[in-house]
Amino acid sequence: MDSAAARSDTLVLDPASRARANALLARFLGDYEDSLRERPIVPDVDRTVLARLLSEPFPDRGVGVEELFADFNERVLPNSTTVAHPRFLAYVQGPPNGIGPYAEAMAATLNQNCNFWQLSPAASVIERSVVEWMAGLFGLGENAGGILTAGGSIATQDALTAALADRRPDFREHGLQAGGAPLVLYTSEEAHRCVDKAAAVLGIGLDNVRHIPTDEQFRMRVDLLAEAVRADRAAGREPFCVVATSGTVTSGSIDPIGPIADLCEAEDLWLHIDGAYGALFVLAEGAREEFAACSRADSIALDPHKMLFAPLEAGCLVVRDAAKLRAAFAFSSSYLTVAEDPLMVDFMDYGPQLSRGFKAFKVWAALRTFGVDAFRATAQRCLDLAAHMGRRIEAEPDLEAMNPVTLTAVCLRLRGRTDTEHTEVLARLRAEGTALLGPALLGGRAGIRACVTNHRTTFEDIDLVVDRLVELAKR
Ligand SMILES: *Cc1c(COP(=O)(O)O)cnc(C)c1O
Repeated sequence: MDSAAARSDTLVLDPASRARANALLARFLGDYEDSLRERPIVPDVDRTVLARLLSEPFPDRGVGVEELFADFNERVLPNSTTVAHPRFLAYVQGPPNGIGPYAEAMAATLNQNCNFWQLSPAASVIERSVVEWMAGLFGLGENAGGILTAGGSIATQDALTAALADRRPDFREHGLQAGGAPLVLYTSEEAHRCVDKAAAVLGIGLDNVRHIPTDEQFRMRVDLLAEAVRADRAAGREPFCVVATSGTVTSGSIDPIGPIADLCEAEDLWLHIDGAYGALFVLAEGAREEFAACSRADSIALDPHKMLFAPLEAGCLVVRDAAKLRAAFAFSSSYLTVAEDPLMVDFMDYGPQLSRGFKAFKVWAALRTFGVDAFRATAQRCLDLAAHMGRRIEAEPDLEAMNPVTLTAVCLRLRGRTDTEHTEVLARLRAEGTALLGPALLGGRAGIRACVTNHRTTFEDIDLVVDRLVELAKR
């Protein structure tokens, strides 16, 4: 048997191939880390190469490890965005923390199916410890529970599912088809689109989502929220849930959670907090106060793949009462027998998935490897970098700040420039390799948005970006 045939006979790497794979992987990881600053932030895409990636048929006989790495290095890597570049300051997207790639490989090797605990005892306990730690950050109490998700959007969708099941105990049987008053959801004009998306997917309907206007600091107006709830009740509709945001995606504003929680209590509404961007800033000393009222939420969506720098994907939903998640998602099944054990959790009962990966490991591994202090310090540093950028913008007569810098999102305009000119500035910064910033639309005005979600960004990087913006503004 020739070696290619031997390879195609088995899906295991032979010892020589394994040694090559180990060496090539180690070299890639090392070279990538060492070259991050010199890499283009956004690739100059080679369309011919990309077209070939699409059109090349998969080989009947495998190309082997070396060829695979060669392909990766020559075709995938040069056409990929350098998310970890210190001046990648767009969206809310961070680089993976240093242990992330290793933790992913370790978890993939064990390939635990985190559906019911007998199949994955250690993984089940590790996921629970991660979830309990997250719930503990917000003081959700001893009945709290939750689950790791694919991201903040899914965490919010799962939370709204639980809120619906809680409101309509026969939701599972009849869905929203059983009639009754239309259920109404409230969020703000600055809320993330994932709220609308979840409402659409779950059959709540966008007609029944109220986008409450915000104040001059882009926070939900609680007086207008109360008014909207009253108006809906008067019209025979049934308010059921408020989605507040602690850290809106454009400006980082934090809705007044305390007063919103008061209203939810008085009106018997489920309070969900979209904390996908902001909630993990609870780790930073300087921001902790802002999150104190989150302890009153029924559910909170968080994103470890943002401020814990877990490699994509890792979101998390925590709920005040874990039984409410089970009420929405637990289905008994004939072929999966479940034993009661207070130490163990069957995560299939807490969300829509059955087969589930061991996402918790990369979060747990990072918290163990680096320690919680490292994440506290990083969250604080990102806040400090953004505050520095905000102060510099305030001090520059040619630049105009568009938002108070609450978290790490900084929106600005070049004075006297049109919207088109702002788009051109973004393209220019990107093309010359200065930075990747994003567009902002805030209070109906267009501008430029930087978001520091990167543990490698330095004060010098921020200064370089602001200096260049000033130069472009003066022209
Ligand atoms: C990122 C983000 C989301 C969506 O989270 P995903 O993990 O991308 O699904 C929702 N809300 C806010 C405020 C966000 O920043």
